[in-house]
Amino acid sequence: MRKGIIVQKFGGTSVANPERIIGVAKRVAATKKKGYDVVVVVSALGGTTDELVDLAGRISKNPAEREMDMLLATGEQVSVALLAMALHELKQEAISLTGAQVGIVTDSSHTKARILDVSTQKLRKELRVGKVVIVAGFQGVNLDQEITTLGRGGSDMTAVALAKVLKAKMCEIYTDVKGVYTADPRIVKDARKLDSISYEEMLELASLGAKVMQARSMEVAGKFNVPMHVRSSFSKKKGTLITKEVRAMEDVLVRGVTAKKDEAKVTICDVPDKPGEASRIFELLAKADINVDMIVQNISRTKATDISFTVPNSDLKKTQEVVQKVIKTIGAKAVTYNKSIAKLSVVGIGMRSHSGVAAKMFKALAAKKVNIEMISTSEIKISCVIQKKDADKAVKAVHKSFGLEKKPKK
Ligand code: ADP
Ligand code: ASP
Ligand code: MG
Repeated sequence: MRKGIIVQKFGGTSVANPERIIGVAKRVAATKKKGYDVVVVVSALGGTTDELVDLAGRISKNPAEREMDMLLATGEQVSVALLAMALHELKQEAISLTGAQVGIVTDSSHTKARILDVSTQKLRKELRVGKVVIVAGFQGVNLDQEITTLGRGGSDMTAVALAKVLKAKMCEIYTDVKGVYTADPRIVKDARKLDSISYEEMLELASLGAKVMQARSMEVAGKFNVPMHVRSSFSKKKGTLITKEVRAMEDVLVRGVTAKKDEAKVTICDVPDKPGEASRIFELLAKADINVDMIVQNISRTKATDISFTVPNSDLKKTQEVVQKVIKTIGAKAVTYNKSIAKLSVVGIGMRSHSGVAAKMFKALAAKKVNIEMISTSEIKISCVIQKKDADKAVKAVHKSFGLEKKPKK
């Protein structure tokens, strides 16, 4: 009697060299022996995707996105084949498949494609004959048979999508840390591993810089309630469960602290203070498919005002082109761009019903003489734009001020 399906995803560092791939194969084979059907998702060998991006950059400053996907998808094809071989060595039947072979169908937005449909036919056929099925993460195929990729960190998305369509008992994310922590454990040494976190909080933390999970994958996991377990590739210990909001979680004010260092601040100075100007600027940015994040506009004491907003660094060039044109039409005086910023955020469902979180955060920053340039809040997060050089110091100070290193009382 089979016990059901488990999806196991292994990130780049977990398959960085032959020894680690053999280690992964042993873990997968052991799960299979316990009576589960196992679908494995693997990322490219550690560092490979970055190397491929770099390689493309040395040929072209502006490579076609279709060709980027052709290039980047090769990384995962290497790791799935090697893992299949490692399982064969252990006398475990296994087959490696690309996204296209599985039938992971996406839209056509190359380099950040969205999954439209996942066929389970081939997966089920191979599982039925006792094979471990190894799927290349991060890739799919559009309706024209063109290879697409799902955005950086996209193997998490592949794992979540497969777990959803196969109704897996668990989607296990194996990585190079022991779970989800109250802050990046590489920055905050006494960050605490969480036993559990809600989809909503994980989505916020991930969108705000905690790269342990791809943000988009958390949207899907939350929408379909996919049971998730983030844990270490190098240990057998329990990691962090990602689940629906549970009662005990509500008593905690702040779940975690994170910083995002890949955004730039744009300030348009002396925008005439009259209706329609902001609309004109942001409409053109939206048309150019630029992802504008925080926006701040102050009241004007004169007849003009400054508007600041942040965009991902990767969109800065496009933003500059749009903004240079728009300032001429609206008669704004000047524009400044600042890439040396970071966005610091605290996240927690408990904030919904508590006040004073912002005050505490600002006090911790003031004590470290960290200047706040922009602020934005939502129900479950507070973000501040600060200087990039202050980011690590600020994460540590805010983490400490909320006592996140200590286990909360239940
Ligand atoms: P993988 O290659 O396994 O997908 P990633 O590098 O994408 O791994 O994500 C794991 C990394 O995420 C960790 O090495 C850690 O430095 C970083 N990270 C950032 N914030 C957090 C957090 N709050 N909890 C755990 N890890 C975090
Ligand atoms: N290899 C891809 C990346 O580095 C996908 C992933 O690792 O999840 O972004
Ligand atoms: Mg990752």
